[in-house]
Amino acid sequence: SFKKSLGQNFLIDTNILRRIVDFAELSAETGVIEVGPGIGALTEQLARRAKKVVAFEIDQRLLPILAETLSPYPNVRIIHQDVLKADVRKVIDEEFAGIKDIMVVANLPYYVTTPIVMKLLTDNLPLRGIVVMLQKEVAERMAAKPGTKDYGSLSIAVQYYTKAETVMTVPRTVFVPQPNVDSAVIRLTKLHQPAVFVENEAFFFEVVRASFGQRRKTILNNLTSNLPNGKMFKETIEQVLHEANIDPRRRGETLTIAEFADLSDRLFHVFQKS
Ligand code: SAM
Repeated sequence: SFKKSLGQNFLIDTNILRRIVDFAELSAETGVIEVGPGIGALTEQLARRAKKVVAFEIDQRLLPILAETLSPYPNVRIIHQDVLKADVRKVIDEEFAGIKDIMVVANLPYYVTTPIVMKLLTDNLPLRGIVVMLQKEVAERMAAKPGTKDYGSLSIAVQYYTKAETVMTVPRTVFVPQPNVDSAVIRLTKLHQPAVFVENEAFFFEVVRASFGQRRKTILNNLTSNLPNGKMFKETIEQVLHEANIDPRRRGETLTIAEFADLSDRLFHVFQKS
């Protein structure tokens, strides 16, 4: 029986599995991290093309099935652990010694898509990139460009670290059991350095989150309501927006990542002094 609570929707279409693997551009020198191998269908395709596959699976009941499916592949290692609690850096160091090209490839459990992707991006891991199946709607938000309805703090968080592309959409009918949303495969290629340089990363993300607080509000109103002590600093924030050449009546969703970086550096100085 399937565990809905663990996001268990298994992919049964070999053609789609192969295409996911194609998007990851694996070679015989690649180390692959998989999250949630399930019954091992994707794992098997990965094992055929990569040097080594390390897969995190939380559900103990799947371990004997995985052991059987994957018995022909000595280059697969299953780790019975919640990936969100795992020390992925340590696993990479121990399992991928001498391997320079490392990719994450997975059909993610949908109830924790965003935490998993953000953990893999923010833990400063030596990855080339991430190719994962997730909810179509989440893929669209991750890859969204400024000025579109899907663009928000998730787009900026992901595009700060990566080039994000939705490479394929997948109907719900190819899963067992069928999930109640459509899916997509997203490819995140890590940038050599973050997309923008900011003085204080935590403050940058705070400004971004504050700017998208209420989507219908202007950037000025969002920043004053959502930054700590923002109300006290309304005039200063308005002044800083003018200095940054950002009309205070614009909405957060129209700002590029570079505009957010410039704005957050300017605000950082003001808020640091106060
Ligand atoms: N890769 C398989 C496939 O394509 O058919 C299964 C994918 S299924 C969408 C998600 C898998 O992730 C399930 O096997 C589930 O048990 C596992 N899982 C759920 N939460 C997890 C977590 N926090 N850490 C590791 N694995 C998890």
